[in-house]
Amino acid sequence: MTAWIDTHCHLDAPEFDADRDAVRHQAALQGVAHCVIPAVERSNWDAVRTLAHHHADSYALGIHPLYTGRAQEGDLDSLARALAQHHADPRLVAIGEIGLDYFVPGLDPARQEQFYRAQLQLARKFDLPVIVHVRRSADKLLKGLRELPVQGGIAHAFNGSLQQARAFVALGFKLGFGGAVTYERALQLRRLAAQLPPDALVLETDAPDIPPHWLYTPAAQREQGQPQGRNTPAELPRIAAVVAQLRGQSLQALAEETTANTRAALPRVHHLL
Ligand code: ZN
Repeated sequence: MTAWIDTHCHLDAPEFDADRDAVRHQAALQGVAHCVIPAVERSNWDAVRTLAHHHADSYALGIHPLYTGRAQEGDLDSLARALAQHHADPRLVAIGEIGLDYFVPGLDPARQEQFYRAQLQLARKFDLPVIVHVRRSADKLLKGLRELPVQGGIAHAFNGSLQQARAFVALGFKLGFGGAVTYERALQLRRLAAQLPPDALVLETDAPDIPPHWLYTPAAQREQGQPQGRNTPAELPRIAAVVAQLRGQSLQALAEETTANTRAALPRVHHLL
């Protein structure tokens, strides 16, 4: 069976509290051999680390831009201490997720940038790649990476232009594709998935978020009480099938390419597979 890596999966999210082990097992049955579990704030660092060890997956530690509002100044020092403490843990594969979000209203851009840049500094200090959250913020993120270069990483749920994609690749990044690419109306993103060179893509679900179109419940039906479909890492092969079709390649070729790309972006994953 084709083996896949889900490079971005929030398995610790409360949506999985009732059946987390079953969800991971179901993904394994679908061929998902490895999941990378990014952190979002100080309170979940222990959870992602424990989960990664429990399922022989990997994790990242960091402060997500959407959580910078409620983060404390001292959390950056705590992150530095946690990274020092767990640096020798082979399952710690990146700093993340970090980044900038200019889409969600009510976030202080200066504060987001302060946390982003401080965490780039930590990535340099601990020589780890970064997993970045990009939403309407690609150029600002790229500016930070040019001023504070890191070894590379993944621009997760990428949805920028071909030019921005190339700029990330030039800085040692791979671009994460997930459920968003399954929507026929996502013309620009689908064109990008088709156009990018073979060494640029990695796959992700971002579960439980970003449901692929076959799990999506339209707003009108949600208002009538039908819940939003829950995305899980088991959806990865079906998302991959969409990407493979857009690129005109076989599933096996895409699996091999994206696995090699994940290993390049997150070198510690290489030793875990
Ligand atoms: Zn995420």
